[in-house]
Amino acid sequence: MGKLIVEAGHTPSRPGAKSYIDGKYEHCFTDDLQNRTLYKMNKKKMEYVGLQGSTMGFYHVDEEKNNSQVIKLFNSMPKGSRAISIHFNNNNPRATGTEVIIDPRTNKYNKSRASWIVRNIAQTLDIQVRRRNATRDWIYPSETFIGSIGIIERTTIPVILVEVSFLNERDLAKYFGKEDDIATILALGLKHDFATSAEPEFKEREEIQKIKRIEAKSIDPSFQLQRDPQLKFKF
Ligand SMILES: [Zn+2]
Repeated sequence: MGKLIVEAGHTPSRPGAKSYIDGKYEHCFTDDLQNRTLYKMNKKKMEYVGLQGSTMGFYHVDEEKNNSQVIKLFNSMPKGSRAISIHFNNNNPRATGTEVIIDPRTNKYNKSRASWIVRNIAQTLDIQVRRRNATRDWIYPSETFIGSIGIIERTTIPVILVEVSFLNERDLAKYFGKEDDIATILALGLKHDFATSAEPEFKEREEIQKIKRIEAKSIDPSFQLQRDPQLKFKF
């Protein structure tokens, strides 16, 4: 059976883009959101794998250069696995929006999944979906400023790289307080089997609400213990 993989983009020693908040880098945000997403998936008794998170005891790969260890782990996952890689954009004060990056060769179900995730994030945060081409909700690695993304192009399972928002004051003001809603969207989008049911509509929000209610009743105390509140400000 396939695994659902949630990767926290970047690592503690190479924490990615700088946010507008002093000393707080992208990995702080991806790590936090990974925790929240896995928590929601855990509550649904799903098979999941966390990658690169600093505060959870899953695969911890502190290697950024080519992401080769991460790519190797992705490619060692059983057939039917799929993954999301969580990222945030830079802190350019004039930029805004959310985007998803996928491989042009990825299957149509993964394209539907990417589209559903990015539209839900945009709606929840009240920011725009950033597109390079008006006919699709996703971006290809060749259309990014790097031009090539190994974690998408050199992996054998469907991967969606999500740039949740920019790390500037404008987008983060909308993100703060919505972290759990975004985590729910990521969890729901990743677990949804777009192959066996029609592309979900935004009525799936009802399901998001349902998950939140279930969670509120069943907080796992050990989860709180695993999280290190200091970590957010460590980098
Ligand atoms: Zn990143």
